Amino acid sequence: MKQIVILGAGAGGTMSANHLRRKLSPQEWNITVIDRNSLHYYQPGFLFLPFRFKGYQELSDVSKPTRRLIDNGVDVVNAEITEVDTKNNVVKTRAGNFHYDWLVSSLGCRIIPDQIDGMREGYEQNVFDFYTPDGAIKLQRALDRFDGGKLVFNIAEMPIKCPVAPIEFVFLADYYFHTKGIRNKVEIELVTPLTGAFTKPIASKVFSEIAKEKGIKITTDFSLGYVDHVNKKIRSYTKQELDYDLLVAIAPTEGAEVIEESGLGNGAGYIRTDKHTLKATGHNNIYSIGDGTDLPTSKAGSVAHFESEVMAKNLLNEIKGKEPKARFDGHSNCFIESGFNKALLIDFNYKAEPLPGKFPLPVVGPFSLLKETSINHQGKLAFRWAYWNQILTCKLPGEPIMTNYCSPTGKKVSMLKDGKAAFEI
Ligand SMILES: Cc1cc2nc3c(=O)[nH]c(=O)nc-3n(C[C@H](O)[C@H](O)[C@H](O)COP(=O)(O)OP(=O)(O)OC[C@H]3O[C@@H](n4cnc5c(N)ncnc54)[C@H](O)[C@@H]3O)c2cc1C
Repeated sequence: MKQIVILGAGAGGTMSANHLRRKLSPQEWNITVIDRNSLHYYQPGFLFLPFRFKGYQELSDVSKPTRRLIDNGVDVVNAEITEVDTKNNVVKTRAGNFHYDWLVSSLGCRIIPDQIDGMREGYEQNVFDFYTPDGAIKLQRALDRFDGGKLVFNIAEMPIKCPVAPIEFVFLADYYFHTKGIRNKVEIELVTPLTGAFTKPIASKVFSEIAKEKGIKITTDFSLGYVDHVNKKIRSYTKQELDYDLLVAIAPTEGAEVIEESGLGNGAGYIRTDKHTLKATGHNNIYSIGDGTDLPTSKAGSVAHFESEVMAKNLLNEIKGKEPKARFDGHSNCFIESGFNKALLIDFNYKAEPLPGKFPLPVVGPFSLLKETSINHQGKLAFRWAYWNQILTCKLPGEPIMTNYCSPTGKKVSMLKDGKAAFEI
């Protein structure tokens, strides 16, 4: 029996397991997924929990048992992965060792508050995150208690997971304080190391205009060096100081420790990955997808989803002795809830930045790109159902309705310097 081992049963690992199980004979191929958690979290819900947004109250609203999301013919092992021995093709875990013929890694990334002086000490006092289940619930309680003052949202450094989450958080905070009737008592400031509200200029301009309308201040080019939770100040490396009453922080982010310790990492725990084939550089039998790659695209569930399809095509080809010809184009898309029952949507790839237009169909949409609409908001609300029932379980309609590559169709391509060429893979 040949063995495929998948590291991580998050978004990328779950979809990879389901795609591969449906295409490979169970008589010939055994597939094992390993994760330290027996629960799968719908991480976009971590953004809603702090605000108790539309029914997001408890962790049970954003989690399901992993086993239920993965096809029956896949072995699911609940264990800490301690080493990947690439010389001997063995994954070591606290529950034993697993030999592999092919390995797919999707171990995600993690925030490390200890990398910023003073940040960890401020946790539980006036510093919070919403990138972990525990963090999202603690922030919810802090917001319940918060009755006015200055809320600062800080990104310590890039890259982070879900780069639109900060802008979405401050938009939702504005809405939340309005509905609580205390918006006039709250200052909201987004403090970022970027030169704008987002990594891509056209979208950044749109987000900045919306932030301005909402009275949200954006402070750019701020590289966090120190958190002084006693005096409620953050300081940049260039000694710029800002006051806060409540700090929502995204600490420096790295890939999984075990990746670095096993010699597979780039120094920050991310696997060096071929940006098109998704093969781990220098490892002929390893694929790498999701937040744990070093690829220059968003660390987003949509990316893990599109990558899992490309990876599965390539791995199946290789198993048949063919070339891994499927190519990933960096495709990413994401709804951005902006409060007051509206949301935006962005769709882009390695080369084409988010553009205005309609999605997925030209003219008809029904979703609008880079524009606040109530249909986008309905899409965002429906996304949790789709995540559990269609995306993780790989039941979405494929091409031509939904493509894993980014299509120019419906987009204002003329806004790009290199036009349609930006969509070529
Ligand atoms: C607040 C927030 C909002 C977001 N919103 C969106 C959104 O709107 N749209 C979107 O597309 N994406 C969004 N994302 C991002 C999305 O959740 C991630 O990009 C996606 O989950 C990445 O999938 P992955 O498989 O790479 O990693 P993950 O889903 O994080 O899975 C990694 C898995 O590896 C396991 N693991 C790690 N190390 C070990 C180890 N040593 N041993 C055993 N198991 C291990 C973990 O337990 C985890 O289950 C959001 C994320 C956050 C935090």
